Amino acid sequence: MGSVGFPLKSLACILIVVILEGFCDSHNETWCYDKPSCGPQTWGSLGFCNGRKQSPINIDTKDAVPWAGLGPIRFTNYEDRKLVKQLKNKGYQAEVVLHSGATISSAGLRATYYLQHFHFHWGTEDSDGSEHTINGQRYSMELHLVHTKNNMSVEEALKDPEGVAVLALFMKKSRKYAQVNPWNTLANLFKKIPEKGDTWDLNGEFSVGGLLSTADVSHYYCYKGSLTTPNCEEVVTWIIFPDPIEVSEQVIKIFSNSLYFTTVKEGRRMRNNFRPLQPLKGRKVYYYKENISVISCLLHCFY
Ligand SMILES: [Zn+2]
Repeated sequence: MGSVGFPLKSLACILIVVILEGFCDSHNETWCYDKPSCGPQTWGSLGFCNGRKQSPINIDTKDAVPWAGLGPIRFTNYEDRKLVKQLKNKGYQAEVVLHSGATISSAGLRATYYLQHFHFHWGTEDSDGSEHTINGQRYSMELHLVHTKNNMSVEEALKDPEGVAVLALFMKKSRKYAQVNPWNTLANLFKKIPEKGDTWDLNGEFSVGGLLSTADVSHYYCYKGSLTTPNCEEVVTWIIFPDPIEVSEQVIKIFSNSLYFTTVKEGRRMRNNFRPLQPLKGRKVYYYKENISVISCLLHCFY
């Protein structure tokens, strides 16, 4: 009996593995950007995507509440080229994975937040694809620098209501920056990871600070929201710099033409990977602008 039972058990195990693998395959396509069957309109049933603090949002600047107490964002180690680790095509976005070490802090953040990775959202060569909008204006692309509280793993941070802080910067086309700069270097490297699962090891080719060298980080909007991809966990403090970084047209072209959601053969170009705007549902958006007051000048200018 034992000798008969064992193969039956093995067969059952094989069947379970096959069923689970099938589930995992379809699970990968339970959400996407480019098909009606799994596009953003269908995400409501996934995770927290139907919650009350979802992202992205439109920022109506006249409704933003000025709050000096947020303070300026202090950056550490953003210039360190050794921190860039690997490029990864995740099948829905292009990500730059980092070694731990770069941080942000501010009076408005209750911990130090460590930069873990950054990624992008875009439209097509000719249409805009930022996730957030400012007074209804959408930009070509949006950069998300994802930080976790006190260097938690991303998995841990997703369980903490204050686990994640994302810096968002808009990118727009400009003729001024057609020469080689860190953006051109990064975009050209993305050509090496066209398919889902592709990776490329980095070796100090650029620094995050170099990419942000022309960004104006002296003023920003801040609100509580979610990840913009399933499971849309509502754990994100969003810090959004309204002034766009200017990059060459070539950079936008490379993103929208060189990357694919799956395989080059299947031909689904990674484009329009941005989530539609979500309702504010009573949340407040705060605004901070650096402003040297007379009192702080008295304290710092004469001593
Ligand atoms: Zn993002």
